[in-house]
Amino acid sequence: MRTNSLIDPFGRRVDYLRLSVTDRCNFRCHYCMAEDMTFVPRQKLLSLEELYDVSAAFVDLGVRKIRLTGGEPLVRRDILKLVRALAKLPGLDELTMTTNGSYLRAMSQPLKEAGISRLNISIDSLQPERFKALTRFGSLEDVLAGIDSVLKANFDNTKLNSVIQAGVNDDEVVDLAQFAIARGLDISFIEEMPLGEITSHEREKTQITSKEIRQQLETIWNLVDSAETTGGPSRYARVVGEDSKIGFISPISNNFCGSCNRVRMTADGRLLLCLGNENSLDVRAIIRSFPGDMKRLKHEIIAAIERKPERHHFDPKQVDIVRFMNMTGG
Ligand code: SAM
Ligand code: SF4
Repeated sequence: MRTNSLIDPFGRRVDYLRLSVTDRCNFRCHYCMAEDMTFVPRQKLLSLEELYDVSAAFVDLGVRKIRLTGGEPLVRRDILKLVRALAKLPGLDELTMTTNGSYLRAMSQPLKEAGISRLNISIDSLQPERFKALTRFGSLEDVLAGIDSVLKANFDNTKLNSVIQAGVNDDEVVDLAQFAIARGLDISFIEEMPLGEITSHEREKTQITSKEIRQQLETIWNLVDSAETTGGPSRYARVVGEDSKIGFISPISNNFCGSCNRVRMTADGRLLLCLGNENSLDVRAIIRSFPGDMKRLKHEIIAAIERKPERHHFDPKQVDIVRFMNMTGG
């Protein structure tokens, strides 16, 4: 067994951890959650100390980037305390966060000061009524104010994320890109994944490919493929004459597993080796049975990486993965 670095059986080095700090959220985006969600009981969520210990183990094993996610990471109590502690981990190059943006008006500056270097902000519509319908509880005004506040706080390379669904918001692709470009922000367009059983719509009917999204953009802008990467699954194109990059995340139409460098921790402490696969390690059981035993924890993580699958298989016609994206950590 290899030690002190995480290399899977397919030769991929795992240096990126997506850490879900809560499964809870103030929104109920219809592709992400059911209207009535049962959340994990609080005692089953990893504590701040446990989240820190797990992160420290991963950084010791060569992880260089951690993205905090959820659920909505900003609803987790004492999130700034966790950010401050993680930002000081020796060896960690980047601490980032994915958020729905609704709390950023007040939180962007404190997050910057605590040590978050980059933010991804999810926004699927610029139309207030549609935004409310898509998120069930969200206010577009709050998110826009949050984005303004992030621009003032001078984060590096802030990126917007938009899940595009045919017949739902595919008429806003150009508007969303325009919004990002006008502010010098990057934007990634995401294909919807069949994670979790939902009743709001049939995912098969709302599928739209990155290729179709790109064709819409190319009616307005010249896009030139770029080899740039932010360490995630986006494939980027530069917008000729503008500062922004446009990313395409294509889990359905264009499998990106060959270059997969990441694993995910769910808020209740399961290490998921692949987004599209239930194969996992119960990290919570290990740290609660053997508190403080970092050697054992690292040993178990190394052994789990040996089980990382080669690729995911998503079929929008059927739900193989019962967990929702809020559990998985986007
Ligand atoms: N609450 C935060 C947010 O919305 O940015 C962080 C967690 S959220 C699960 C992370 C990302 O996953 C968001 O950009 C969201 O749009 C995306 N997402 C959620 N469910 C999805 C699905 N079924 N398919 C594709 N993307 C999804
Ligand atoms: Fe909440 Fe993010 Fe899921 Fe929307 S996508 S319900 S904001 S966790």
